[in-house]
Amino acid sequence: MTSAFLSERGALEALHAEIGECRACELAGYLACARPVAGRQGPFNAGVMIIGQAPGRLTVARGQMFGGPSGGALERWLLRAGFAPGALRREVYLSALTRCDPGRSPAGKGDRKPTAAEVALCRPWLERELALVRPRVILLVGGMAIEAFLGPARLEDIVGRTFERDDATLIPMPHPSGVSRWLNDPAHAALVTRALERLSALRAAWEEARAEAPDEAGAR
Ligand code: SF4
Repeated sequence: MTSAFLSERGALEALHAEIGECRACELAGYLACARPVAGRQGPFNAGVMIIGQAPGRLTVARGQMFGGPSGGALERWLLRAGFAPGALRREVYLSALTRCDPGRSPAGKGDRKPTAAEVALCRPWLERELALVRPRVILLVGGMAIEAFLGPARLEDIVGRTFERDDATLIPMPHPSGVSRWLNDPAHAALVTRALERLSALRAAWEEARAEAPDEAGAR
């Protein structure tokens, strides 16, 4: 292991210690009680990062991103893209636009979406995390995560396509929660299949590169 590898790892642990102390949304009056989900959520040099909207109650209770039913759906998507069983928790780095549970929607239907102000307050944590993990592929799951990186777009116009950001490929995906009815349309399901095929091709390419140059690949 190189010293750069070890210092990046230490920096990521230190970042999560800072996140755990964050009370910015509580101090701004956006949350009654800020309780960030902190602690590294995947291997620090993961090739894939998944970014969602915000933690829900199960995620907070388990201290694990995508700790609810969405985690199972993501695992199935990764399997379809050729990842090994259990890859979601072993190989992929999990993150979100915000780190605290926004609570229930005032209308009583599902989780409240974090406001733009909350997302903006939390964005520096995410950017620092991205700079340390440096994933090759970023899966943006759900409309909010997509908009935060790519601007407003309809899912049907954007799922199945890829975008570049610095050294990473962005893959927009619908939110995997069973609440979304978007996935029930066969045409939409075909777009998800196309997105997973793109993820699979990227995974195969970097595994090939790692096999040919294991030292260079391992240094990331
Ligand atoms: S959502 Fe993010 S910025 Fe807001 S209190 Fe939680 S960790 Fe801090």
